[in-house]
Amino acid sequence: MVDSVFMAELSWPEFAARTQAKAPFFLPVGATEQHGPHLPLGVDVILPTGVCERAAREVGGVVAPTIPYGYKSQPRSGGGQAFPGTTSLAAHTLSLVIRDVLHDLALHGVRRLAVVNGHFENNWPVVEGVDLAMREIRRDGIDDVVVLRFEYWDFVRRETLDRVFPDGFPGIDLEHASLLETSLTLLLRPDLVESDKFPNDGPAQFPTYDRTPVKPGFVPASGVLARAQGSSAEKGQWLMDDHVALISRMVRAEFGL
Ligand SMILES: [Zn+2]
Repeated sequence: MVDSVFMAELSWPEFAARTQAKAPFFLPVGATEQHGPHLPLGVDVILPTGVCERAAREVGGVVAPTIPYGYKSQPRSGGGQAFPGTTSLAAHTLSLVIRDVLHDLALHGVRRLAVVNGHFENNWPVVEGVDLAMREIRRDGIDDVVVLRFEYWDFVRRETLDRVFPDGFPGIDLEHASLLETSLTLLLRPDLVESDKFPNDGPAQFPTYDRTPVKPGFVPASGVLARAQGSSAEKGQWLMDDHVALISRMVRAEFGL
């Protein structure tokens, strides 16, 4: 018997055994997007996958393969689409990917699902995908599927944010390739962080509206929206401990585990 939390590492009989045991399934949803000169394009895949892996171990769950592409990067939250390597899906494409994956998991017996977002802009397209999936699942006569959908970064204690940001939290929409994501990447994949390349051109100063086309200089040239200085694997561990503990507690409570 393979002892793995990753669905892609299970055989089909092992998958079937987990679904019969009513294991909760985690579906991380990421992006392939620039994260400044110091982080890899796959940060939004690496981080939610790492959170889900640990939460799945806590609650006896399974992690479905992470969706590696996300909805388009927006200038005020991710730097926008112009940076080399940022490779995105249209909103409706992402919604349909979510719909199809959830639908097939349900057809194969999964009843407890957690869709874990790791890329800010994915929020509403993923909500739409869950809605479309639930319509199809019910149409197929399956009425006992429960889907939880959330952003992993919301599962953090105020005290932890105060420890990580003694000068005040800049807000999650500016936290792109900045202290939170850099610290968590230092924890999970330090080999991929170039700490001598933290940029100095942030924090971004955005108005409260979008303008298309974007004016030159609107987004910091580095693509980093707040500060990465002060990031550390230790802070990454504080954040990870919160994410895993609070998500596991919520999943247990929702599914009666
Ligand atoms: Zn990110």
